[in-house]
Amino acid sequence: MADAVTMEKIVSLCKRRGFVFPSSEIYGGLGSSYDYGHYGVLLKDNIKQRWLQAMVQERDDIVALDSSIILHSDVWQASGHVGGFSDPLVDCKFCKKRYRADHLEDAQCGQRPSKRPGEASDCDLTEARQFNLMFETRVGALEETGVPVYLRPETAQGIFINFKNVAGIARRKPPFGIAQVGKSFRNEITPGNFIFRTLEFEQMEMEFFVPPAEADEWYRYWVDERFAWHRRYGIRESHLRIRPHDDDELSHYSSATSDIEYLFPIGWSELEGVANRGDFDLTAHTNASGTKLEWVEQDGSRYTPHVIEPALGVNRSMLAFLVDAYDEEVVAERDRTVLRLHPQLAPVKAAVLPLIGKNEDMTGRARKLYEELRQVISVEYDDGGQIGRRYRRQDEIGTPYALTIDDQTLEDDTITIRERDSLAQERISIARAREHLLDRLAEPWSSPKVASLLP
Ligand code: ATP
Repeated sequence: MADAVTMEKIVSLCKRRGFVFPSSEIYGGLGSSYDYGHYGVLLKDNIKQRWLQAMVQERDDIVALDSSIILHSDVWQASGHVGGFSDPLVDCKFCKKRYRADHLEDAQCGQRPSKRPGEASDCDLTEARQFNLMFETRVGALEETGVPVYLRPETAQGIFINFKNVAGIARRKPPFGIAQVGKSFRNEITPGNFIFRTLEFEQMEMEFFVPPAEADEWYRYWVDERFAWHRRYGIRESHLRIRPHDDDELSHYSSATSDIEYLFPIGWSELEGVANRGDFDLTAHTNASGTKLEWVEQDGSRYTPHVIEPALGVNRSMLAFLVDAYDEEVVAERDRTVLRLHPQLAPVKAAVLPLIGKNEDMTGRARKLYEELRQVISVEYDDGGQIGRRYRRQDEIGTPYALTIDDQTLEDDTITIRERDSLAQERISIARAREHLLDRLAEPWSSPKVASLLP
């Protein structure tokens, strides 16, 4: 078993197998921007689906929303983002590198990577300046007359401003939630670390509106619920922890926040945030817009609900799943790299492989099975090259099962099913392959990787 999963190994696998490419590569690349290839799209999509399943489909107290990326500029004034969504920035006048003043402890000096910025004698850091993270653009044809607007830095505000619309027609009373998945944009100062922090990313956010007296209880509920979601899809408990924010770390709007952290190759870092935002947002938008965003009881009494928000990045979640799944082992004296992804997240659920790619009886049977299976799940057909190579390719993209059509298939209508994690092989009837596979995919799964902490 591998003991150290480095970011380099993940980046290399992602490029080699077409999960993630550096963006604008043929023009020299654009820092902190990535493009997602076929398997990256499928994996990201599965993460979003599993989130929506847990947050909307399996509940009767949360509904979905898809709000605009570009909203009225006043939204961002009211939310405090125009005035306050900024990071403190310092520049080194000597090496020209730029750092977040609050992240100097974790940064490397541009000249001497073994030191922190400011520690070497040549370092010449400026005073910290505030730098707003929102990307600004314009609506309108003319540069001079266009109205300035922002690309949203979070999806949450689109939910708050729709509170009245949704509460009015969703026939739900607090506690109830609104969930949204969509792109957000931040002009991050110190990008890097692959898809951990990028200029554009997808967020899965849910705002849960509750009577004020129930806010603490629901906050604790959502911290536990979200922790359980990461475990449900295979993240090892040894690599997950809950870190409550200290008082001096809390955002201006929050009375309590906990980060669910994952042990990434860069160390323990925020994977998801769960915040008790109080009535800050609904009150701010009520005051700024003049529209009352409040709950009116049948007896006419009214109150502003408090909000609990779990917020998770799709791309950061994908990185955590990839790191947690990445494994290397030696099998029959050969190195094997395998992504031990939860079957429900795996981009491809099964590969259909004729043992001899040039044997038309085998390829015919294999294609028929493949065409039957692809109607219900994501499957791949591959008849090119040695069977061992084809298995290894599927292992590297995390395909949990391989179905092989061989000589014996032609005699007795059976095929082998090979399991990615244990490498166990079993013969099953081709007629029952679909049912068998669907049953296997639905079985509980937990990571077979050892629960050792990364160095
Ligand atoms: P960080 O401290 O890492 O900058 P944050 O506390 O600003 O994150 P939130 O505003 O709470 O992040 O956003 C919620 C989630 O969105 C984060 O937990 C993370 O998963 C994701 N996220 C935030 N910024 C980025 C980014 N630039 N790139 C990728 N994912 C991000």
